[in-house]
Amino acid sequence: MSDSLTDRLKAGIDARRDDIVALTQGLIRIPTVNPPGDRYREICEFVEARLRRSGYTTEFVRALGKPGDSDKHPRWNLVARREGRRPGETVHFNSHHDVVEVGSGWTTDPFGGEVKDGKVYGRGSCDMKGGLAASIIAAEVFAEVVPNYVGAVEISATADEETGGYGGVAYLAEQGRFSPERVQHVIIPEPLNKNRICLGHRGVWWAEIETHGRIAHGSMPFLGDSAIRHMAALLAEIESSLYPALAKRTTAMPVVPPLARQSTLNINSIHGGQPEPEAGYTGFPAPIVAHSARIVLDRRYLIEETPEAVRQEVVDLLEGLKASRPGFSYELRDLWTIPPTMTERGAPVVRAVDSAIGEVLGLAPDYVVSPGTYDQKHIDRIGRLHNCIAYGPGILDLAHQPDEYVGIDDMLDSAKVMAIALNNLLNQ
Ligand SMILES: [Zn+2]
Repeated sequence: MSDSLTDRLKAGIDARRDDIVALTQGLIRIPTVNPPGDRYREICEFVEARLRRSGYTTEFVRALGKPGDSDKHPRWNLVARREGRRPGETVHFNSHHDVVEVGSGWTTDPFGGEVKDGKVYGRGSCDMKGGLAASIIAAEVFAEVVPNYVGAVEISATADEETGGYGGVAYLAEQGRFSPERVQHVIIPEPLNKNRICLGHRGVWWAEIETHGRIAHGSMPFLGDSAIRHMAALLAEIESSLYPALAKRTTAMPVVPPLARQSTLNINSIHGGQPEPEAGYTGFPAPIVAHSARIVLDRRYLIEETPEAVRQEVVDLLEGLKASRPGFSYELRDLWTIPPTMTERGAPVVRAVDSAIGEVLGLAPDYVVSPGTYDQKHIDRIGRLHNCIAYGPGILDLAHQPDEYVGIDDMLDSAKVMAIALNNLLNQ
């Protein structure tokens, strides 16, 4: 690429400083809190009006009947596309437009979009309305500077990432909108820091385990069989054998933070015996031996592991207890499984963003993998499109926090990276 072209892309973005701030503020001021999924249509219309002025054809897509969708809270998505001079490959920027609840501890208006010390504050500024704004500015400046580009640019603003993405990217992927015949490169501007390329995420297996007992009077526990004690035996096994085994597993996945660079297990919840009393009940509990105890496991696994093996090692623990512990019986219910995904470093979208980061920041990017999943799971699994990364301006640690913000210089830098990456991919 000629220096002058790179310089023109960078200068074009620097000239949009006020524009990127105003755009980010406009997005923050539409409080798309999820759950329940407020004002999705409004934010889609806001983005639509902007992109239509910039030469995009736009489409509103409602994920009718998907989880969370109702007439009160319809799951609206926007997909916008701008064709180049002649047909070629498509680069798609996907941002979720929903934000999590505000929570406490704010010193600024969470939906005010206040600008202070070079930062725009508000719920969703970092995760990820600042990323959406950066991709819009990047694509607009690219089309101005390189009007004869080949292929197409798509920008989507999608619902429900914070609650699994089933009314958003998963739905669009089911409709074939991320099939490799239609889209070749995907960049998700999630807040992963502007010098890092996120290649994917670890896998997830959620399961509920219930141990059974036999109810009896609490004063004569020997007449019953405590499901809680059976569960305690399982938890002791998990502590003494499973956790040490998980900690030893190493991975080629560059997960951040580094402590997540192994298999992990969280015991998400535990319930046993009689239910918690209703609010307002002031009496004592009744004396009973617990006939049921349940835990929910949240197991995050590595690309080196298979979902079958992840499940089997828990089954082995349970079967071991069944063989050794009188009266032990259990049920295992699978709740949710998402396989791990990691785009190869040699993939075209990775190379394009890698060299763009070098041109803008003067350094080699860090390659990372996310400890938790995000919408890449649907693009990879349902869409069958593997040439996908997350790259965006926000600082990961600020996501979902009070006084969340996005740095204006960070948005401009990442927009430059996105514009140069577009040029790398579509100016041939
Ligand atoms: Zn996000």
